[in-house]
Amino acid sequence: MSGTALGHGLESLTLFTDPVDLLAYRRDCSVVAPGEPELVARPRDAEEVAAVIARAGRDRVPLYVRGGGSMYAGGVNPHAGGIVLDMAAMDRILELDLARGIVVVEPGVRFGALLEALAPHGQTVGIVPLTGPTATVGGAVSAHALGSGSPRHQSMGDCVAGLEVLLADGTRLRTGSAACAGAGFFQRYCIGPDLTGIFLGADASFGVVTAVALWLVPLPAVRDTLTLGFAGTAAAGDFVTAVQGRELTRNVWYAAGYEGGTVRARMTQAEPACDPATLPGFCVCFDLGGDADAVAADRARLLELAAAHGGAEYAPFDAVYFRRLRYDESYWYSFAGYFSRSRCAILMSSLPSDRLAGFIAAVDAQRAQWSDFMWGAAVVVCRRGLHGGVLVFYDERREWETITKAVDGAADALVAAGCVPYKSGKQWAAQVREMHAYSSVLERLKRALDPAGVLAPGNLGLGHPGSGTGSAD
Ligand SMILES: Cc1cc2nc3c(=O)[nH]c(=O)nc-3n(C[C@H](O)[C@H](O)[C@H](O)COP(=O)(O)OP(=O)(O)OC[C@H]3O[C@@H](n4cnc5c(N)ncnc54)[C@H](O)[C@@H]3O)c2cc1C
Repeated sequence: MSGTALGHGLESLTLFTDPVDLLAYRRDCSVVAPGEPELVARPRDAEEVAAVIARAGRDRVPLYVRGGGSMYAGGVNPHAGGIVLDMAAMDRILELDLARGIVVVEPGVRFGALLEALAPHGQTVGIVPLTGPTATVGGAVSAHALGSGSPRHQSMGDCVAGLEVLLADGTRLRTGSAACAGAGFFQRYCIGPDLTGIFLGADASFGVVTAVALWLVPLPAVRDTLTLGFAGTAAAGDFVTAVQGRELTRNVWYAAGYEGGTVRARMTQAEPACDPATLPGFCVCFDLGGDADAVAADRARLLELAAAHGGAEYAPFDAVYFRRLRYDESYWYSFAGYFSRSRCAILMSSLPSDRLAGFIAAVDAQRAQWSDFMWGAAVVVCRRGLHGGVLVFYDERREWETITKAVDGAADALVAAGCVPYKSGKQWAAQVREMHAYSSVLERLKRALDPAGVLAPGNLGLGHPGSGTGSAD
């Protein structure tokens, strides 16, 4: 069906059907194949979202949802065609309740705008992805974001007090305490199981998020960074495990680990005379924040624990890279150009901290096998466990097919090394199909909530042979 025909009945919304406008909606920042949308609708409120969902359901047209489009897993790519819902115009802060410690926002609010609005009240939110200026709250809750706050809170979902979601049949669901008329959002858990959780990380497969309630977190009085160097990954992994076991991440706003190659590249670039033989084999960096006394005490305890694992402060990498990354608030923007010009692929997996050495070894094996590409690896420290990021730099015009194979190969190797698929099932579809019981329950949920299969088909990577559903999502 043409985009113009699809738009009939939706004329009161902002619609795009011009092929040039549609180009911007074909993909996100991933190496997942782009799609061809027929129509883009930009709703201003939940009623307009409901109208588009009804339209998609009536004619069984696929419907994909786009926030900032900054994910690297293909969730916004309309690979089955159809309609893209662009949530950018739903960008209002609906409620700031300092007494309850809750902020309720529309899903298209970008973190940059949200943090700016909260700062005068001395508040922030628990998790902020490093793409803060671009990423939307709706995209982050639907894609299990992490980043600033992960050492304290783990993942985006752990900071969500409740959601408003529109289901495929038009039901407007409020989860948690807000399910009870008159109570409003203040508590994630209601009676029975956690319905909020079904929609977190669901990549729009079970519903369209139209409001998000996040718990507020006071801004820290003092911030400081600390970088520790270790001889190798095994010692660094044991150190991080010990830090997490002692809950020494309470005042850590962000922490990341960088392999020797990254340390070497950054150091020799900044100080060409430095002797690579003297550099640490792995660095773990902390951005601490809290009361001055607590920050000073934690800093001392981290140094002590590092020494017990053969590590020591390595201030030069802090000065050259980590402190600037955090305090210039450049986030990952030094990399953003690579992503937007499709020069860098990223694959995120989760792993227990004591598997750090195995993770880096798996990346090294890919590096050896696909030596034409430049590979990088880094980990984000969470309250428990790590999120490992693998970066591969490539040239889209010449290397699209090869990079796709290299990333698929890396996904297999990471799972074999004990890592867990993280973020979109579209990117991890082959591995999701191996998680038989898990994916079969997801399929049953999908069939129950979206029997016509219009919401973001393909995003969960379901439909394994023998499930009796074909390609269910
Ligand atoms: C350079 C770079 C650095 C990055 N750093 C980080 C990082 O530090 N931490 C991190 O977590 N991620 C990071 N990312 C990935 C990404 O920026 C974040 O995950 C971000 O939260 C995605 O938000 P978005 O609004 O761009 O989502 P989108 O890409 O627009 O969407 C993500 C998914 O959510 C779904 N979705 C969007 N809105 C809704 C809605 N209202 N209802 C239902 N489903 C919806 C989409 O369909 C899609 O499946 C990075 C990406 C890049 C390119």
